[in-house]
Amino acid sequence: MRTIAVIGAGQMGSGIAQTIAQFGTKVLLADVDLAVAEKAKAGIDTALGRLVGRGKITPDEATVAIARITPIGDYAPMIDADLIIEAATEREEIKRKIFEAAGKVLREDAIMASNTSSIPITRMATSSPDPKRFIGLHFFNPVPIMGLIEVIPGLATSPETIARTRAFAESLNKQVVQAEDEPGFVVNRILLPMINEAVFVLGQGTASIADIDKGCRLGLNHPMGPLELADFVGLDTCLDIVKVLYNTTGDSKYRPAPLLMKYVEAGWLGRKTGRGFYDYSGDAPVPTR
Ligand code: NAD
Repeated sequence: MRTIAVIGAGQMGSGIAQTIAQFGTKVLLADVDLAVAEKAKAGIDTALGRLVGRGKITPDEATVAIARITPIGDYAPMIDADLIIEAATEREEIKRKIFEAAGKVLREDAIMASNTSSIPITRMATSSPDPKRFIGLHFFNPVPIMGLIEVIPGLATSPETIARTRAFAESLNKQVVQAEDEPGFVVNRILLPMINEAVFVLGQGTASIADIDKGCRLGLNHPMGPLELADFVGLDTCLDIVKVLYNTTGDSKYRPAPLLMKYVEAGWLGRKTGRGFYDYSGDAPVPTR
């Protein structure tokens, strides 16, 4: 692939754009407007600078990678894209509007992919011009570091689209897990009920934030506890995924923990807002309960 468009330049879109650029492909980066996309590019520049500082890449490699990223303020330039990856906020109505707008410029040989964590691919494909060329491409956070991508064909996705998408994912030096289009796919279907349950445990006063995380780190040999991980993912994103699991299955075991809803209502969304289950204003995260 020669040019890839990434729509939604938040945590995930920025990581996806950075990774693609580091692996040698041009990226068109879009968000709600040009200014947000430009700010995201500046953030990627800083992230590449940190890699240079740690000796992971050379200054030249950083310069070449950042030059491959072009922030854009409308959809027209995406006519050059072989692949369009949507990585916007986890709301179906937002994503559908993006697919409709991007679909107007999508070339007949190009693929449209969504980085959704939980929204059914088959359902969203109906907002794209050609469901045969629509697919789920689920990266993990932080994208430049995590070695996995889930590939999720919808009901109408063609074998050619699946093969090209898998080849693209592998070209980024990631391992691929292919999943059926079921809510949460594989990893989030298992992870989000665990995070949600950890918030129930916290809300019921069974243990402190620090002890819940310590218990899972040491007792399950997980590198991060579920509440630290929730802060890392973003509590709004966690809640959105749990709601999708709940609403699409109708199974009460997925009902969102009331405390998770309260934190989101308070705007305590985790690392990205400086406070979630932990407070990130100092040198080290401090548990808030
Ligand atoms: P985020 O809040 O950091 O970023 C979302 C971005 O989408 C924001 O920059 C926002 O301005 C932009 N956006 C909103 N509406 C838009 C529109 N109409 N057009 C273009 N851009 C728009 O969220 P995130 O964590 O990067 O998540 C993005 C997607 O990736 C979601 O679908 C999420 O489920 C998925 N995802 C998240 C994670 C994670 O760990 N956070 C992991 C895998 C997948």
